[in-house]
Amino acid sequence: MDNIQVSVENLVVEYKTEHGNVQAVNGVNIQVKKGKTLGIVGETGAGKTTTALAVLRLIPNPPGIVKSGKIIVDGEDISGKSEFEMNKIRGGIVSMIFQDPMTSLNPVLTVGDQIAESIGIHQGLSRKEAMKKAEEMLEMVGIPGYRSGEYPHQFSGGMKQRVGIAIALSCNPQLLIADEPTTALDVTIQAQVLQLMKSLRDQYGTSMIMITHDLGIVAEVCDDVAIMYGGRIIEQGTLEDIFKKTKHPYTEGLFNSLPNLANRTEKLKPIRGLMPDPARLPSGCVFHPRCLYAQEICQSRVPQRTDFSDTHMVCCLAYEEGTNIEVKGGGRIV
Ligand code: SF4
Repeated sequence: MDNIQVSVENLVVEYKTEHGNVQAVNGVNIQVKKGKTLGIVGETGAGKTTTALAVLRLIPNPPGIVKSGKIIVDGEDISGKSEFEMNKIRGGIVSMIFQDPMTSLNPVLTVGDQIAESIGIHQGLSRKEAMKKAEEMLEMVGIPGYRSGEYPHQFSGGMKQRVGIAIALSCNPQLLIADEPTTALDVTIQAQVLQLMKSLRDQYGTSMIMITHDLGIVAEVCDDVAIMYGGRIIEQGTLEDIFKKTKHPYTEGLFNSLPNLANRTEKLKPIRGLMPDPARLPSGCVFHPRCLYAQEICQSRVPQRTDFSDTHMVCCLAYEEGTNIEVKGGGRIV
């Protein structure tokens, strides 16, 4: 366990809605190794962002409530910490990069002030020292330090996201959570930002959770992968486990819905149907209405985890005793 930076155990998060309580995250277990990147992959509504916000204890209450679960950071359970202690942890030990750099920065503060504010809070430096460090952080993410006196609207989308990365990394966090950090950026800028995050992670040995729906990004930056569906982790493994030994029909569907570069005439095969409404999750296996291999038993029996190795697990009845379901699996390189 020495190499585990963050461990989330049996996390259950509910939201109160007018239709009753909705389970957005249901029994999630994940581990992030020191200096490694865990990709949490799934469609919108799978529970990825809720899981990340729970790690930072940022679930808005009401309407959200963490029903159970432990969050262990570097061997210490932070689930019961006071809000005062959590404010020191957020931005200090655990940092987050948000999806939209346009809205995550404060428009009325200079970027230098915003980076310095985070440094001042967590490192107790004087304003002058914090501003000097802020300029160094800007240089580190490829923005000239003299631009620290400019406001967010004076920067392009890609540069704003670099500022977001500078803020997130300014206090040398042990864990960086990146929530779809390149979705709002042009494709060419996406590659630059990903490259920057990778090199900074390697330079500082920061552990990372990368939340994404893009398997190309996973292939590029992740060491381990957790596939989420309907608030649960339905397959988890190393990059190689997930890409070369795919087991779950949903993971298989995600790969099949990507263009096949080796066979450009092959038609895309999107997964039929939509992610279910968390207020009306299907019975049995939550994926059964969309699964190509579903049998009657899938409508009533909830799949349990099946372990294939120390690193690779899946929740699908096809791998459980007493069922007679054949799935293809396989995997491929993107
Ligand atoms: Fe498909 Fe059944 Fe496996 Fe669910 S349990 S993924 S419905 S085969």
